[in-house]
Amino acid sequence: MSRRVLAAGNWKMNKTHSQAAEFIKELALSVKGAKNEILICVPFTNLETALRETEGTNISVGAENMDYHDSGAYTGEISADMLVDLGVKYIIIGHSERREYYAESDKTVNLKVLKALEKDIVPVLCCGESLEQREDGITAEWVRMQIKIALKGVSKEDVTKVVIAYEPIWAIGTGKTATNEQANEVCAVIRDCIKELYGEDAAEATRILYGGSVNAGNAKELFSMSDIDGGLVGGASLKVAEFTTIVNA
Ligand code: PEP
Repeated sequence: MSRRVLAAGNWKMNKTHSQAAEFIKELALSVKGAKNEILICVPFTNLETALRETEGTNISVGAENMDYHDSGAYTGEISADMLVDLGVKYIIIGHSERREYYAESDKTVNLKVLKALEKDIVPVLCCGESLEQREDGITAEWVRMQIKIALKGVSKEDVTKVVIAYEPIWAIGTGKTATNEQANEVCAVIRDCIKELYGEDAAEATRILYGGSVNAGNAKELFSMSDIDGGLVGGASLKVAEFTTIVNA
């Protein structure tokens, strides 16, 4: 089964509204006609701008987080309905920075995945091990556990809508990319876990991205590995020329 390559940018806490508008105008021209799928996940304050600037282009827009409650007394949070009403179609869930700095747990990741699917938003579900866990030889077990908890209650019909991003924490923003083999090996573990839970067809249809210091120089080889279906890209997604090379990888 062929899975379409997805190049997804994670802007994190970067770019003001005006910078975003200018950047997306340039990016849209630069990636016009690209054959891979393109997604940019941007800060909440840039969502309206990004949706407007990408209208009629081949770029989709996502958010970087949301709450799992529908509404209420959750100061500072954003609900799925708020995103849907704007036209947002993707959401990053469980990024390691949110797990580390904002106490995101496997349980809240699961609740967010379920809420996103209920509201027809595609979750980009992040998982990945720390350097210590890799050195302790528990990467596969750790990632399998994260995936199993995150997908608890997700139906077979819905699971293939989820995009999974394998992001070893030690490779995020460090310039230290996993080797093609290391990245592919864990993506294959994830695919095997989906197969165990949902069967071979679902496993083959689910897109699994690699993230962690993807750049213009390593994207092509990473994306050509058997179990890697694209990338979740942080730093390099903030530069038009570099992200364009990744999109075309
Ligand atoms: C990320 O933010 O998900 C990420 C992988 O960042 P970077 O590409 O900068 O390592």
